[in-house]
Amino acid sequence: MTGPRNSPGHRSPYQRRDNSNLRGRRPNALGRRPVVEQTPSIRASDPPPPGVQIVWTRQRQGAHPWFVCGCGRKATLLYPCGASWACRRCCGLDFRSQQLVPRDRLILAAQKARLRIGGTGNLLDPFPLRPATMNREKYERLAAKAIAAEQRLKAALSTS
Ligand SMILES: [Zn+2]
Repeated sequence: MTGPRNSPGHRSPYQRRDNSNLRGRRPNALGRRPVVEQTPSIRASDPPPPGVQIVWTRQRQGAHPWFVCGCGRKATLLYPCGASWACRRCCGLDFRSQQLVPRDRLILAAQKARLRIGGTGNLLDPFPLRPATMNREKYERLAAKAIAAEQRLKAALSTS
C-alpha cells in the first residue's frame, strides 16, 4: 500500500504498541482465547482508521455508524489484529461469558437481567420492584426476561 499513511514521519493516531500477544486465535496462558473485555478497541463513532469504511443504518432517531470489517461484517467495535483492525470474529476474540461453564453462564445471565431492572445482581435478594424512573412497559418486558433467566437457572441446578 502507498500513500500518506505510509510516508516516513507520519504517525497515525491508531498506531499502537506491540499487541502481537492479542493477534489471531492463539490461546492465552490459561489455554483460552483472548476476550474482548481485555482487548483495546475503537468505536465506530470515532474517526475510522485508514482503509476502514463506515456505513450508517437508520434508527428511530438519527443513524448508527458501523465499521465494515475486511470480512464484510458490520461492527460497532474493531480490535487490533496483526497490522490492522478487524472485527471480534476475525481477531479470534471471545466474549468472557463464552468461556464460562454453562451453569455459570446462566447465573451471569440471571444477574445481568436483575441489574437491568434496578436489582443488585444478588439472586437471593427479593425480586426488584419497578424503579420509579422506569417506564412500566419496559419494566414488565425486562422483568419477564429476568424471571425466564432465573427459571432456566433453576432448571439447570435441579438436574445437576
Ligand atoms: Zn471481520
